[in-house]
Amino acid sequence: MGAHILVVEDEEKLARFVELELLHEGYIVSKAANGREALEIALNGDFALILLDIMLPGLNGLEVLRRLQQEKPTPVILLTARDAVMDKVAGLDAGAVDYITKPFAIEELLARIRVALKLHGSSSGMAAQQPAEKEAGVYRWGRLLLSEKRHQVTYDGTDISLTNREFQMLKVLLENQDIVLSRDVLLNRVCGYDYVGETNVVDVYIRFLRAKIDEAFQIKMIQTVRGVGYVIKSGAPDMTAG
Ligand code: CA
Repeated sequence: MGAHILVVEDEEKLARFVELELLHEGYIVSKAANGREALEIALNGDFALILLDIMLPGLNGLEVLRRLQQEKPTPVILLTARDAVMDKVAGLDAGAVDYITKPFAIEELLARIRVALKLHGSSSGMAAQQPAEKEAGVYRWGRLLLSEKRHQVTYDGTDISLTNREFQMLKVLLENQDIVLSRDVLLNRVCGYDYVGETNVVDVYIRFLRAKIDEAFQIKMIQTVRGVGYVIKSGAPDMTAG
């Protein structure tokens, strides 16, 4: 079981982006979008770590932190705005174990989470799971192979030529097999969470991918979940079938 992390963030796109990354790392994730909800969930749950945005509706993050710390010692990493020096000082004074300034690189956040869990982990925090052992940057689905290092996709040994964004989208779908990804999430992952534009560009990339893979090799890899998004299910078709 991965460590259970509570993500408190009212910017929905950012919250979902972080959630997806954490899930991918093997953590269990809960979310709250305002201060009061966060405090209630935090007090009633058993979290290894809380990522807490400071600027929140309802009750701000510092207040959530203060009230939480009176009740239980869950480690908290604050998400702060750039230049909010007073918030950082007040946050650390109030008991936060670390803070990270927005916008942040996801790798940095993941690194700080690992450190916080190691240094401050409770029994549940110690259970932090390492990402599943696998060949780094290689994703498989039946006869399809995506190598991140070589930036190459093949089906049954045949090269498939993809644009960079098609490649990224395929990678995200392959690394999250069996998880239905919404257009928003796919857009965040492929274009960055601050991308401003139509989510239907996702449908366009999916169409290109289907033409180059599903149709070209007569398989059904990318599935549409109506009203939700897209998924690649882990059960690849029979390897021996034509
Ligand atoms: Ca906020």
